[in-house]
Amino acid sequence: MPLRAKVASSVSRTAAALSRAAGRGDGSVIGGWIGLKIDPDLLAHLAAGRAIALISGTNGKTTTTRLAAAAVGVLGKVATNSFGANMPTGHTSALAKAGSTPYAVLEVDEHYLAQVLEATEPHVVALLNLSRDQLDRAKEVAMMAQLWRAALVRHQDVRVVANADDPMVVWAATPPPNHDHRINPPQVTWFSAGQRWHEDSWVCPECGSTIQRSGEQWWCTGCPLRRPDPQWTVEDDGVLDPTGAWHKVSLQLPGKVNVGNAATALAVAAEFGVRPVDAVSRLSSVTSVAGRYAQVEKDGRLVRLLLAKNPASWLEAFDMADLAPTLLSINARDPDGLDTSWLFDVDFAPLRGRQVLITGDRAYDLAVRLDVNDVPFQHIRSFNEAIRAVPPGRLEVIANYTAFQDIRAELDRVN
Ligand SMILES: [Zn+2]
Repeated sequence: MPLRAKVASSVSRTAAALSRAAGRGDGSVIGGWIGLKIDPDLLAHLAAGRAIALISGTNGKTTTTRLAAAAVGVLGKVATNSFGANMPTGHTSALAKAGSTPYAVLEVDEHYLAQVLEATEPHVVALLNLSRDQLDRAKEVAMMAQLWRAALVRHQDVRVVANADDPMVVWAATPPPNHDHRINPPQVTWFSAGQRWHEDSWVCPECGSTIQRSGEQWWCTGCPLRRPDPQWTVEDDGVLDPTGAWHKVSLQLPGKVNVGNAATALAVAAEFGVRPVDAVSRLSSVTSVAGRYAQVEKDGRLVRLLLAKNPASWLEAFDMADLAPTLLSINARDPDGLDTSWLFDVDFAPLRGRQVLITGDRAYDLAVRLDVNDVPFQHIRSFNEAIRAVPPGRLEVIANYTAFQDIRAELDRVN
């Protein structure tokens, strides 16, 4: 590395360590920020010489990054941004902290994918899904797909691993060849991880016609865009690889959505030459991801924490949760987005028949939504009150970002 980059990298590590020592989180954002101030090309310098995978999408990217890092770990040391700091400051900090590693698997905020592709020149990029998220500040889904598509046109040498079940992702991953046909579309490996949420992909991003669905198939009624045949698919509790071999996936993470994330992780690792048979057992080493899926015992109640932050992830959370008493918590602070109107995009009917408790800054927004949805509920004011309100056994907690952190903090205090 050039001297300037060496200095920037060292200062970045020190700043992150100081921030950690001061109890201000894991320090990766401030460390990366200072490093990039000293050398704006620091991320590119730190990325050079590593084989890198980028993982992006609206939902599942933190978990998939953890699983993919575990799978690529078959080959050697892997740098990764495991605390979910998924913008260039976080990537810079993660690579500076890791020192020299042959591999890196990085979670990337979908808005920054073009920029991080440019800086890191990855070997492979995984595109998971695109759906509405944080209505007051995130881009419209079709605009996001357009940005991804334009970025991939400029990087035709990158290998793409993409979700065949999401029409927006398929369109983004298959840009047309340019006029003189010198630039070919990227090479794509398709996986099928399912898509429970369809409300952002009824209109074709190519021609504006409606998209039709039948079973797992989908196709545009006005142009050739349709579901490609996936090479990696989820079958029962395992993954079918491109050779037709089936691998049982034993995860410590709940839900079918995580078997889909495991399939994606195996497909990403395969792009580095990792055989699924060698990687699959390593996936069970991932227990909780930044506190998500963590289980805590409290007064005979087995509490499980599920993060859900937008309509698509709430649907997945209902599927992951056992048929047990369920506490829902909603805040609308800055990291959550200030607009809670998305609650009306979620069908809460799957909660009927469960004991439902609600809490959080915006519990009353949730109350109105549940009332309209004919789901009986009880409003409680603290986590301890929730514990007392449910019988011994499982208590599922589904919360959005800062509500999730509040409950984690409360659990840490009582334990
Ligand atoms: Zn179309």
